[in-house]
Amino acid sequence: MMQNLNRYSRQMVFYEIGQKGQERLLASKVAVIGVGALGTAISNLLCRAGVGHIKLVDRDYVELSNLQRQTLFNEEDAKNSLPKAVAAANHLRQINSSIMIEPVVTDVNPWNIESLIEGCDLVLDGTDNMGIRLIINDACLKLRMPWIYGGAITTTGMSMNILPEEEAPCFRCAFPNAGLHASHDTCSTVGVLGMTTHIVASYQATEALKILTGSEDIRRNLIYMDIWSNAMGYRDIKKNPDCPTCSHHEFTFLSQPRTSYTTSLCGKDAVQVIPFGETSIDFSSIAKKLSPIGTVKFNKFMLSFSDSRVEINLFTDGRAIIKHAKDENAAKSIYSEYIGS
Ligand SMILES: [Zn+2]
Repeated sequence: MMQNLNRYSRQMVFYEIGQKGQERLLASKVAVIGVGALGTAISNLLCRAGVGHIKLVDRDYVELSNLQRQTLFNEEDAKNSLPKAVAAANHLRQINSSIMIEPVVTDVNPWNIESLIEGCDLVLDGTDNMGIRLIINDACLKLRMPWIYGGAITTTGMSMNILPEEEAPCFRCAFPNAGLHASHDTCSTVGVLGMTTHIVASYQATEALKILTGSEDIRRNLIYMDIWSNAMGYRDIKKNPDCPTCSHHEFTFLSQPRTSYTTSLCGKDAVQVIPFGETSIDFSSIAKKLSPIGTVKFNKFMLSFSDSRVEINLFTDGRAIIKHAKDENAAKSIYSEYIGS
């Protein structure tokens, strides 16, 4: 396909990219996992830079409290409770209509991650928790794909490239104590500045350009910064010869038995419930059932229900985000009471 490369001229005159690099970018496919603060900033930059195919994967919907840092969204998106992947795709297509933008509204888990990232050249981490990063790490090393970790909380951020090379350390080498359900500070409890996420996302997007164009200047260590106290530095990460993932090729986070499960969502007083097995949801019949007991509205992506006690946001695949539930068990019983099991 012949493209008008003129729109990329300021990037192409930069000698490290040039026309050859630009053509490589246009032929590349990346997956951005998580389209929140990091993911919107990353996909905005990569879309403008002309990465040819950008897949946006996110399970959540836009709310007003996102707009402080998630720069692709506006008040209209929040008012319409659009899924973040869909809202981001709408805006990105207006920025660059000559590339492919592919939104996917789903939870990323051990059972679907490989099919979500297969065929991509690179995965970018726009998520907000260690559990999903361990799953990304396993899947990328198994499929021998590079991925770029990014984390941001309050005014501190860090990023690291995880490369599928024999001698390179992986995410687990850098964070050996990370676990699927470890409780860390989250952006809902301690906050995060929009500037922090933008700096981290800029580092991730820059490394993405280097990896996709085959540059030799790819960063080989972990970068960290605190933009409030003006600290910045690098940490060398050694490959652990006993690392289960990159040294022994045991991808344990991908082999969890498949069940129904729940997760608490960062940034909101909410729990996500995913029912076991294939579920297909008919919004109009559920709306009929629930409308006598509360307020129901739905669009083609999501049904929202609220009464004096709960707020349920249900997606077409049966997944639900339940607000104000006391804990994950309470969310499960709310799900079966209102939606069914
Ligand atoms: Zn490792």
